[in-house]
Amino acid sequence: MTLKKSSANFHPDLESVMFTEGEIKTRVKSLSREIKAVYGDGEFTIVSIINGAVLFTADLMREIENPVRLDCIRISSYGEKTQSSGTPQIVHSLTLDVAKRHVLLIDDILDTGKTLALVDGLIRKLNPASLRVCVLLDKQGRREVPYEADFVGFKIPDKFVVGYGLDFAERYRNLPCIGVLKAELQNPPEWA
Ligand code: 5GP
Ligand code: MG
Repeated sequence: MTLKKSSANFHPDLESVMFTEGEIKTRVKSLSREIKAVYGDGEFTIVSIINGAVLFTADLMREIENPVRLDCIRISSYGEKTQSSGTPQIVHSLTLDVAKRHVLLIDDILDTGKTLALVDGLIRKLNPASLRVCVLLDKQGRREVPYEADFVGFKIPDKFVVGYGLDFAERYRNLPCIGVLKAELQNPPEWA
């Protein structure tokens, strides 16, 4: 464990490892218990914001024994930048009917709050029985619109992180850990 944490060379493009695979697993398990404590044995509908939340959603779902339905929503991303730019757009909306259903919205990271505020508004218009939000990471200091999640895996400082579903220009999603991308790799050259 300590070996991985200190091994900045876990992936050559990482400056440091913020959470190891083991630490993520442990927290996902305890988050599932927090969720269970709120929903009891009842059914709920998971709405996962893709692509970023795919790994987190898949792991969290497997820790949950409740009957669940799954839907995904695709929101436009940063492109090849590390700072959120402009207003997020819905690229692909829901397929399942969530009216009168208990909805658990899942995202990888809560940053400015714009993405979750947008999706929250969209889901509420569909008259769900309830709406709760679960994020793996929360960069609380970066909020531009007020938004808080009901379940938070880890609060993190303002660092651009990749791995475990989180990308930079669609890369690094497959890393089993979460780490800080080296600063020199965060801005692609003009020709990229
Ligand atoms: P928000 O709309 O809250 O600013 O941003 C949420 C989205 O921005 C997340 O779903 C994620 O896709 C992206 N994002 C925010 N911070 C980071 C980060 O540190 N690393 C990566 N890879 N994506 C981030
Ligand atoms: Mg995302």
